[in-house]
Amino acid sequence: MSERADLDGSEPVAPRTVEAEDPVISRFDPMLRSLLAFGLVEADGDDGTAQWRLVPAVQRRLQSLVSPAPPADKLIYFGHRCGSCGEHAPTRISSGTFLCDACRTTPVEELIARRQPRPA
Ligand SMILES: [Zn+2]
Repeated sequence: MSERADLDGSEPVAPRTVEAEDPVISRFDPMLRSLLAFGLVEADGDDGTAQWRLVPAVQRRLQSLVSPAPPADKLIYFGHRCGSCGEHAPTRISSGTFLCDACRTTPVEELIARRQPRPA
């Protein structure tokens, strides 16, 4: 046993040159290992020249994730007061203002007539 043996008694491994890893890419190692562990990627060969690609189900899912979001007037927001009547209700953005469905479908002239002057 040499005097440099590790604590478990094994001989120290001789130093060797390893290729410098890209610090940015190696940051994704845990995610890449997950892709492998869950079978979300597949290789088209088993030698060192294999090309990796996402399995078709993952490609379809990614496509749905990058599909354009619905138009702003179709999104419903919770936790906002209606910009017209002030009620807490599900709202949609209309001309940059959160409006409840009742106010959104009420003609503008009627809303203006209803509006009370605000205290200064
Ligand atoms: Zn309203």
